[in-house]
Amino acid sequence: MILVVNAGSSSIKFKLYDISQKNNPISLVEGLAERIKVDGALTIKMNDKKHQFDDKMDDHLMAVKSILNRFKELKVIENIEDIKGIGFRVVHGGDKIVKPVELTDENKKTIEENIRLAPLHNPGALTAIEAFEKGLPNAKLVGCFDTSFHQTMPEKSFLYTVPYSWYKEYKVRKYGFHGISFDYITEECAKIFNKKKEKLNLIICHLGNGASMCCVKHGQSFDTTMGLTPLAGLMMGTRSGDIDASILQYMAKELNKDVYEITDILNKQSGLLGISEISSDMRDITNEAFHKGENANRAYLTLELYSERVAEYIVKYANHLQGNVDAIVFTAGIGENSSVIRSWAMERVKLMNIEIDKEKNEADYDLYMEISTPNSDVPVFKIRTDEELMICKETLKFLK
Ligand code: AMP
Repeated sequence: MILVVNAGSSSIKFKLYDISQKNNPISLVEGLAERIKVDGALTIKMNDKKHQFDDKMDDHLMAVKSILNRFKELKVIENIEDIKGIGFRVVHGGDKIVKPVELTDENKKTIEENIRLAPLHNPGALTAIEAFEKGLPNAKLVGCFDTSFHQTMPEKSFLYTVPYSWYKEYKVRKYGFHGISFDYITEECAKIFNKKKEKLNLIICHLGNGASMCCVKHGQSFDTTMGLTPLAGLMMGTRSGDIDASILQYMAKELNKDVYEITDILNKQSGLLGISEISSDMRDITNEAFHKGENANRAYLTLELYSERVAEYIVKYANHLQGNVDAIVFTAGIGENSSVIRSWAMERVKLMNIEIDKEKNEADYDLYMEISTPNSDVPVFKIRTDEELMICKETLKFLK
């Protein structure tokens, strides 16, 4: 079995896979240990039934022990040693880690060095890695990084137009995130189009609470919208996306706050929430706009701003690909489920003739569906992403 782990400073999200059929890992259970260092709460979902426990969790190691003990108790697994590999999602691998790696001391040191670039994310992953190392000493530990898929970007995509010494001395550059999802979608497209990954040109819109897009050229990341941090690019649930950098100093002065406080507002009170003043959740905003609530006009404007940004990047990326685009793909919470955002974004792309089939756009689907008509210059797809499965498959490669 392989356990896939996505850990934060006070939580561990996990999914356990049976890998006895190597080409088809089967998810057995999933769950969440949260409120670590507070009191502790563990939820395990098995066969559509939720089991809840209030195990005490003073630290990540106690959380790990509690997860493993409950696996045994629920008879998910007879012998904990059957977990042969653990795949960790790690946000920042900097510019050193370009693919999934075994978590050796050297690679753990790289995660630690990158804490300064991802202070909110890397520490939780590192603490969880160390806890699982103690809890399951015989398992192979593998790290999959959100940044590594983007290490193929050329300098002209990843450099900012700031003093070059900022890049050389302080590593200020575009890193990009959501790489595990972009990689998964690229592999899915290779299967759908029956084409070699190296031959694929895609524009992928990963639109979730956090959102970014990727221009995939010959199967590799050529450009992406997030930057040094996940604040850049598209408008997101609570993040602003790209803005004029001078707004920072201007608003710091106006609000008598420091640059950290203003950055916090750009991360947590901007985007969908900031503009709509309704919610950071796309469902709430769409409901308000179409059911003509009190704030319908603002909700409508928010949807317009959101779709406009997506369309702008589609055009930019189609230009990178010289118009040679195999598909535009929508994925993640909003991309997979919002027919409104998909059709509004595509309507705003004026430089290509893209025709969306209304029925297919709104239809239920299982794993993926083409939503454009045969007349469309470029096929458009909605595809469900599965970052955990991708991590499981990558971890499996290390067990061979
Ligand atoms: P994620 O971060 O990938 O879980 O995506 C979360 C976002 O997806 C939230 O903004 C949700 O409102 C949005 N979302 C989920 N389901 C729907 C839906 N049926 N229609 C519109 N947005 C949705």
